Amino acid sequence: MKTIALIAHDGKKTNMVAFVKDHLDAIRKFRVVATGTTGQYIEQAGIPVTKMETGPRGGDAQIAAMIVKKEIDAIIFLRDPLGIHPHEPDIFMLLRLADVHNIPLATNESSARILIRGLTP
Ligand code: PGA
Repeated sequence: MKTIALIAHDGKKTNMVAFVKDHLDAIRKFRVVATGTTGQYIEQAGIPVTKMETGPRGGDAQIAAMIVKKEIDAIIFLRDPLGIHPHEPDIFMLLRLADVHNIPLATNESSARILIRGLTP
């Protein structure tokens, strides 16, 4: 079973829930890991989730470490480009390591739809 990481900034959490509900069958084919608060939202949508710390307390960094350990196969990170984030260095680290390790990464809903379709034929 492949592992997908789901992360959403506060301004995008409702968008993440809507995305998950729209793609329940596809997402059920993955093991799902998420940052803490995003994970709580996704659980409410009926998907089992392995929850990390909340983002500002290191959740993004934990997922970045999982990328390095080859434990993540895909990432959907609905970023809020209009928000200010105290853990910006962790976010950049995660994005950089996804590129270093060539992990598929979608940072908005349009690309997330394409990613999930591409991974679940
Ligand atoms: P959260 O973290 O899901 O715990 O809110 C996401 C983030 O802000 O990176």
